[in-house]
Amino acid sequence: MQDKCEQLLAISQKLAQLGLNKGTSGNASVRCGGGFLITPSGMIVDEMTPDSLVQMQFDGTFEQNKKPSSEWRFHRDILASRPDISAVIHTHSMFATTLACLHKDIPAFHYMIAVADGDTIRCAPYALFGSQQLSDNALTALIDRKACLLANHGMIALGYDLDDALAVAIEVENLCEQYWRILQVNSNPPLLSEAEMREVFQQFKGYGKWGI
Ligand SMILES: [Zn+2]
Repeated sequence: MQDKCEQLLAISQKLAQLGLNKGTSGNASVRCGGGFLITPSGMIVDEMTPDSLVQMQFDGTFEQNKKPSSEWRFHRDILASRPDISAVIHTHSMFATTLACLHKDIPAFHYMIAVADGDTIRCAPYALFGSQQLSDNALTALIDRKACLLANHGMIALGYDLDDALAVAIEVENLCEQYWRILQVNSNPPLLSEAEMREVFQQFKGYGKWGI
């Protein structure tokens, strides 16, 4: 558990250093023991220590005298329903949030959209932060995907481990910035076809991970 705490703290610090999260916004979790570890509610990363992180169970119970992120429901529900996933990162990063506020799905405008495991990144309909409805909406948007946007809120990135989730979050933010810039010039940009995206997925498999 100590190792997992240090890893989760390190990823949270990295999210802040990269500017993907600011102040107390955003949170992250990782499978640990029979449950998961999650970042605490309302604490800036600079103040966090490994002991600040909260061990939760899948029934929603958590360590005494600690308070998990208000978004623990979607972390819990994703980890409970996706055995392929071990880490969840949530950000209010600038460009993902900008497009989420426009209720935009991200289409296959660039082949790297494949990092989210599909030819779109969906935007989940708006629901109140921390609510079960938000979790339900996120789970639907994440079907067969490793990332989604949350309308009027931010984004979620999933990973096989914390480093993978961070890599997905960084690439999704990058894609959102590119798409936002493209939309300034052309509101209907040319997209890759289904056949072209199938080739990308084949090529990714060949590389073992992402194509460059
Ligand atoms: Zn949030």
